Amino acid sequence: MPRFDDDWPGNIRPTELFPKLASGVPGVLFIYERSADGKHHRYPFVSERVRDLFGLEPADLRREGETVFSVIHPEDVAGVAASIAESAEKLSPWQHQARMRLASGDYHWFESDSVPELQADGSILWYGQFNDIQAFKDLEFSLRESEAEFAFQAGFQKLIARLSSDFITRGFGNIDQSINQVLEAIGQFFGVDRAYLYRFSDQRDEMTNTHEWCREGVEPLITTQQQVPIDTFAWWHDQIDRMIWENGIVFIEDVSALPEEAAPEKALLLEQGVSSMFCVPVRTRGIVSGFFGVDSLSQRVWRTDQADLLIIVSGLLSGALERHRLEEELMNQSIRDPLTGLHNRRYLDPRLDEMIALWNRERQPFALGLFDIDHFKAVNDTLGHLAGDYVLREFTGILLAHTRATDVVARFGGEEFIVVFSATDGEAVGAFVNRVISRVRGYEFVFEGESISLTVSAGVAAVGDDAAIAPTPEGLIGCADNRLYLAKQAGRDCYADASGPSRL
Ligand code: GH3
Ligand code: MG
Ligand code: MG
Repeated sequence: MPRFDDDWPGNIRPTELFPKLASGVPGVLFIYERSADGKHHRYPFVSERVRDLFGLEPADLRREGETVFSVIHPEDVAGVAASIAESAEKLSPWQHQARMRLASGDYHWFESDSVPELQADGSILWYGQFNDIQAFKDLEFSLRESEAEFAFQAGFQKLIARLSSDFITRGFGNIDQSINQVLEAIGQFFGVDRAYLYRFSDQRDEMTNTHEWCREGVEPLITTQQQVPIDTFAWWHDQIDRMIWENGIVFIEDVSALPEEAAPEKALLLEQGVSSMFCVPVRTRGIVSGFFGVDSLSQRVWRTDQADLLIIVSGLLSGALERHRLEEELMNQSIRDPLTGLHNRRYLDPRLDEMIALWNRERQPFALGLFDIDHFKAVNDTLGHLAGDYVLREFTGILLAHTRATDVVARFGGEEFIVVFSATDGEAVGAFVNRVISRVRGYEFVFEGESISLTVSAGVAAVGDDAAIAPTPEGLIGCADNRLYLAKQAGRDCYADASGPSRL
């Protein structure tokens, strides 16, 4: 206790000293007392500031400390009581953080710092202060958040790097597997329940779910989401238009808060258990060809940076789809004839090899017909090359109309075509070839007003119908070619097989 000399500034009496000092200290100074039996507690001294801060009367607290607990956040009350008990038991400093309700009704974090002192009668006195540490808490929180965000971003970068290198190193034709892997990785990473890819039909009137990943226990929707008409749902239709024309995203944070005009969509989504969803357009050839999306069955909050990341994912998927499309186009270009769109020899030969292998293993028969348009050169010579091209395309149409999707129809050379039938013998092919020959004979080819009459000849070879013929692509085609020659010799407009030329 200081001595109060004459030169002490002002004329402060000791009883006034505490309140005056305390009024200049940020926070609240206090002496807290707990009775020996722990049943009573009070604040023999507390800064006047408690009135402004918490709306508590210092005079009340001097008699009874319980009301302090009424301004502690309900979730923190038990922790405060426990920390006091521990300090009392160990006589260690009471240091604790808790949320306290300000007079304004807001909660702020406060920290107590005080030192206990055991009294002769067994009661304990704590000397210390409460400090508002909200500013530190805010800082700590934002630091922790940006740290989490940083970790998330770093994790995402790693993931995208891995996924894109997977796409690059993956071989031809594995696109579906790659997309499924991306959906799974992204679904897990974002903690959603479903991740999917939809493709629009060429007319953009339907959408089809092509790939889907579901968390375990979540019902897959892919089988029900095939060729779904887009205009059934007006609001959804608008969203899709926005995706297609404005490259917009569909972001529904809370399905139950969808606008009135989206009532049917809302009902459907709720039925599917979807509580929030996010869809981003996917492009191929520079235009929006579908969308990538994620569903969450539980309510969740999306940070804007997470939304941006999903756009990056859709870019990755767009790139993969585009690459796949180019690969297919390239592949098609190399195995198809540009004039007729039919397969070429590069495609035909391996198919023949497969059928020969089947024949060798299981004696499964197959046969081929080699067609050659009669006097085709004359068409070119009299009506020009374009007329010849027209005839080749029309003849292609006739062949396709008479074959099944499983038959191989190929343009073999200039005006020569091969049709290969699996699981068929020479006789059945003879009947088919005859139908084509009759059709051509009766067909009216009209080019630029000029009517052209044409006939076609064919040679038929079936595997195994002549022991002397090697079961190789060259052997069989050579045999059909020899028979084609016989048919030409026999006057054209007919075919020849193992038993020679035959004419209906
Ligand atoms: P044949 O009855 O003996 O089969 O006589 P042909 O005139 O049909 O047979 P030839 O082999 O002498 O003539 C085939 C012609 O087909 C020669 C070639 O200029 C023409 N040709 C080949 N490819 C094309 C093409 O892509 N377009 C057009 N217009 N003509 C082609
Ligand atoms: Mg020819
Ligand atoms: Mg010819």
